[in-house]
Amino acid sequence: MPEAAVVTAKGTRRWEQGHPWIYRSDVTTRPSSAAGAVRVLDRSGKPLGWALWSPHSEISLRLLDRGPDVTIDEEWWRSTIAKALRRRESLHPVASAFRLVHGEADGCPSLICDRYDRWLVVQLLSAGAEAFRDSIVSALIALLRPEGILARNDVPIRDKERLPRLTECLHGSVPREIEVHEHGVRYLAAPWDGQKTGAFLDQRENRALVGRVAAGRALDCFSYHGSFALHLARQASSVVALDASAAALARASQNMHCNGMTNIEFKVADAFDFLRSEETSDSRYDTIVLDPPAFAKTKSALSGALRGYKEINLRAMRLLKPGGLLFSASCSFHLSKALFLEMLEDAARDSGRRIALRDFRGQPLDHPEVLTIPETGYLKGALIEALD
Ligand code: SAH
Repeated sequence: MPEAAVVTAKGTRRWEQGHPWIYRSDVTTRPSSAAGAVRVLDRSGKPLGWALWSPHSEISLRLLDRGPDVTIDEEWWRSTIAKALRRRESLHPVASAFRLVHGEADGCPSLICDRYDRWLVVQLLSAGAEAFRDSIVSALIALLRPEGILARNDVPIRDKERLPRLTECLHGSVPREIEVHEHGVRYLAAPWDGQKTGAFLDQRENRALVGRVAAGRALDCFSYHGSFALHLARQASSVVALDASAAALARASQNMHCNGMTNIEFKVADAFDFLRSEETSDSRYDTIVLDPPAFAKTKSALSGALRGYKEINLRAMRLLKPGGLLFSASCSFHLSKALFLEMLEDAARDSGRRIALRDFRGQPLDHPEVLTIPETGYLKGALIEALD
């Protein structure tokens, strides 16, 4: 019999209540084995299932399977990943880049897998997942026959698992740039050195929404590779794509040409400064997108972050022409839906405008947010209209 972990009543309750993590303080008997899969027992010795075991992390156990008699092997990964792939079949006609596995939300704790056309980018975010690397890679090859699999394991969270940070090719070869499409727009993803796994896949449906409602003079703040700007440019007469990074905008300009467009102007600037000066100079817009980086990276940074969110939203509201639309997003996990909405209400109050909430958006199908696992949800978006 392989070694087992014994957990407290509190640990047992977490699994019963739909959360896959059991913390170090709730593990009363720690397996002496290396990271991998372990059986988990409650205080009375009753088997609770199998978990990924992380000897060094505060998150010791991550639920894999409640079946006491299963074997966690390549076949297990293959059937679990296959289920995640089936859920996403409807995305094939609309995009060639989307998330295939969203970690805990897809029952594959600490595993991320994104598809960019014929290539895959994975992240193995725990020592347990790392221990199954070969099985996971083989399962992905069997299911998807990709031309290459890149591991973007260059993320700080791996420090907590005592895993090295690195980017490496695990199978075949992966190009520096991959051209993908979403809802009729083409763009270049940067799997090796772009943000996240090469693009912000989580905003795909929100970009399509903005593309449908855009008009007139448009502004895309925090544009990165121009992903929102490209959708805006299909309907709007002119678009300003703004970002603090000149390198990001150089890629955005390449993306504009990829689509045969000419109506996007690129501006390297600080969004806070730009919005302030536009307000003073009476420059007004029909459509604005605010998609800032996570201002609240930690819980303690929340109050400062809220001031930042409020400032840009307040100014954007003031910059809207009557009838104009603002799409405002936040990807800060620590900023709840309720606080995000409260911040928007606060900004609306100070803006002096009559502001309506037209739509409130969360995450798309390929980034499922499981209600009993708060960590699977982080993205919020609001479509806002200036009524007069
Ligand atoms: N909207 C993009 C993702 C934006 S990521 C998409 O859908 O793909 C956030 C971007 O904000 C990064 O490109 C970063 O360079 C930029 N940024 C961060 N702080 C900024 C600031 N103060 N002013 C302007 N851009 C900023």
